[in-house]
Amino acid sequence: MLSESSKSIVDDACASYATLDRLNANLKPALDDLVQTTDFFSHYRLNLFNKKCPFWDDEGGMCANIGCAVETLDNEEDIPLAWRSSELGKLEGPLAKHPGKKAQKQARPLQGELGDNVGESCVIEYDDECDDRDYCVPEDESTASKGDYLSLLANPERFTGYGGEGAKQIWDAIYRENCFQRSSFPHSADVGSSATYGVAEQDFRRVLDASWQQQRLEHPNEPTAGVAVDDECLEKRVFYRVVSGMHASISAHLCWDFLNQSTGEWQPNLSCYKSRLHAYPDRISNLYFNYALVSRAVAKLGPYLQSSDYTFCTGDPTEDAATRAKVLEVTSRAASTSSQVFDEGLMFVNGEGPSLKEDFRNRFRNVSRLMDCVGCDKCRLWGKVQTAGYGTALKVLFEFDNNSEDIPHLKRTELVALFNTHARLGESLNSIGKFRQMIADKEDVT
Ligand code: FAD
Repeated sequence: MLSESSKSIVDDACASYATLDRLNANLKPALDDLVQTTDFFSHYRLNLFNKKCPFWDDEGGMCANIGCAVETLDNEEDIPLAWRSSELGKLEGPLAKHPGKKAQKQARPLQGELGDNVGESCVIEYDDECDDRDYCVPEDESTASKGDYLSLLANPERFTGYGGEGAKQIWDAIYRENCFQRSSFPHSADVGSSATYGVAEQDFRRVLDASWQQQRLEHPNEPTAGVAVDDECLEKRVFYRVVSGMHASISAHLCWDFLNQSTGEWQPNLSCYKSRLHAYPDRISNLYFNYALVSRAVAKLGPYLQSSDYTFCTGDPTEDAATRAKVLEVTSRAASTSSQVFDEGLMFVNGEGPSLKEDFRNRFRNVSRLMDCVGCDKCRLWGKVQTAGYGTALKVLFEFDNNSEDIPHLKRTELVALFNTHARLGESLNSIGKFRQMIADKEDVT
């Protein structure tokens, strides 16, 4: 049986779609404004083309569609100041000195200390090597010779035509990372096929299903004790939910921004939504779960982003202040509700929880490494941004004590990935709401 505390994190995260839809309605305008109008958050630097798939020979899985192509910024003058290598070279503080890991840890400043003595701190950048607390393989943008600059706005995530065996192999491998205890867990190929669920599995789904949770909120006196649930521990279920929610979010984007190949127009594709998402409430529930998780991480980061520990490297103090104001608008809106929908304090504490943390982190890093196997440049770009975004959210939630003064040290790419992933999730919730409305409108007509 799930413990009471385990149940509440799952319940809380999905307490009500309506609560999360309201949060999204409030947050989305500020978040879209941040990622669409600031140079800092609309650009990214990553190693998109030169990393080999570390798991298998991926030569055969490349996507040649024009929709898979990515436009990079190859001229220095096209790159916003915030992202130029000359600016990165100016970074001072812990990175510039390259202290050993131990020295870095000792040198971690308390809130308020950094910024006084350093010239251009930007987002604090540590060595390229993985921090013990990273949930993904960080993009090494501080190494000037590696990676490409690009505008995320010029390369929107949408339908590309990538699919077939190549894509399937990646999704299968991602779900295989969820092999903490695979025997009682739905594998991707099985998810959604009701015939494959045993009784306990259906009850498990019922516990996680938000619409059922909504009924429970509306009918609080209905007995809940005695619901037979899978004994899978909370952390393992959360891992699965994060990857399934990411998959659902990608599906929502490609169905919403779909290329009608007969007219050449980009438009929503209702049957794509119906077959990939509407028929699978668990996938939608996992998407909402991710929205709650990432919103909570963004809210938690808010107080740290207020201080001068983080600057936004625009080269212009007025623009820097404007970017910070936009960031804080997002974090304060997120803070208004997110603590009620996700409580990270319940994870990795009970039973086998603490020992699972490292396993969880390593498995999520493997998911991020798998992005180098994606055979479509555009999908790989957004796959990398989103795995980095979830990795950052997990790091903020689970590696930084809520009551400590330790500042979450984040690379600039992590911060940009986090807010863009949040924005992508907000877009997914929005498009799912519109798809649902389309279905309701059709039902009214018939
Ligand atoms: P897939 O989406 O490939 O799913 C494979 C199997 O996984 C399904 O048969 C089902 O059993 C299971 N499954 C599906 N959804 C879920 C879920 N939410 N939770 C649990 N299990 C599930 N295509 C684009 O057009 N644009 C993109 O930007 C894009 N980005 C991608 C990024 C990555 C990292 C990857 C791996 C693929 C991306 N793709 C993108 C391809 C896209 O995700 C699909 O793989 C492709 O459209 C083929 O879809 P499909 O219907 O065969 O099922």
